[in-house]
Amino acid sequence: MTETLDLKITKATSSRLAGIDFEKLPFGKTFSDHMLVADYADGEWKNFEIVPYGEIGLSPAISALHYGQAFFEGLKAYKHADGKISIFRPDKNAIRFNKSAERLCMPDLPEELFVQCLAAAVDADRDWVPNKENYSLYIRPFMFATDPFLGVAPSSTYKFMVIMGPTGPYFSKNLKVKVETEYTRASEGGFGYAKAAGNYGGSMLPAKKAMEQGFDQLIWTDAKNHEYIEEMGAANIMFVIDGKLLTPSTRDTILNGVTRASIIELANDFGIEVEERRVSVTEVLEAIANGTCTDAFGAGTAATIAQVAEIVHEGKSYLLPDPTKSEFAAKMRKALDDIKYGRVEDVKGWNYIV
Ligand SMILES: *Cc1c(COP(=O)(O)O)cnc(C)c1O
Repeated sequence: MTETLDLKITKATSSRLAGIDFEKLPFGKTFSDHMLVADYADGEWKNFEIVPYGEIGLSPAISALHYGQAFFEGLKAYKHADGKISIFRPDKNAIRFNKSAERLCMPDLPEELFVQCLAAAVDADRDWVPNKENYSLYIRPFMFATDPFLGVAPSSTYKFMVIMGPTGPYFSKNLKVKVETEYTRASEGGFGYAKAAGNYGGSMLPAKKAMEQGFDQLIWTDAKNHEYIEEMGAANIMFVIDGKLLTPSTRDTILNGVTRASIIELANDFGIEVEERRVSVTEVLEAIANGTCTDAFGAGTAATIAQVAEIVHEGKSYLLPDPTKSEFAAKMRKALDDIKYGRVEDVKGWNYIV
């Protein structure tokens, strides 16, 4: 069955676009003219609407605020040289959206409807997709519980929303990262694989402490013994060791990233061997020490590839080769950008044209 989107559009009376300084675009602070809103009630999604971006009224008792029935997605739209606009692999985010919803006991949104909502939202703000190298329109879909009820139980009403904003290049400053051996982000049986709001709330104190100690980012390890590497900040982590791409296999403590999956697929195409398995802290540190580990990087929508220059474990420092000279990172970044900005034929069908 094909789901069709019944959408009401109320356009903003004037655009804020002319007042935006594209040279100064801190991530997540600039929002486009419109947003999409939909309601879930009586067992169904309804009232799909595009309205001017702005504040929304809510009861102070909504359960999202008290018990964390809330999650989000993150992806980007790109402008091609010929003016076309594409969203990168929104079908993947649609699947993950519903995985998060299921784990948090929230209703799913048919994948086709999710993608159509994103396309309609981007279409309403087409002019906001920057026509500039390394720029894009960040898309933030999210869902939260709206029952004004202080009982710890799944809400019966929800809101689905999509907000968007232009973002500029991510200046990767070759990160100094700490292997976290005290706090954990996710545990077995938990919901680390969901993009649940609560996962990020819990990561802020460890991240703040690491920053106070002079680090840019954390490497999360397993909750049991801090023996295995899981993720880096809010990104997946990957290594190149002996010329092979090595990354922790996805499990219930790891978010299944679209960037990660795309890099793995491209590496396979390039004939680079890929290993997805549990990755121990010890093997990575040894590989850095003996020079066989040439790359360590975070993979995610925000930065694409965020390269690591130094890893510190229990006070001991391990230095990686100069990240700015990495052939692997440069090749991957280019391969991904060439597809996203429509510079090569999209043989994989990764671009959803709006
Ligand atoms: C969003 C996210 C990622 C990266 O996923 P992408 O789909 O590549 O953006 C990785 N880890 C965590 C914890 C995340 O929240």
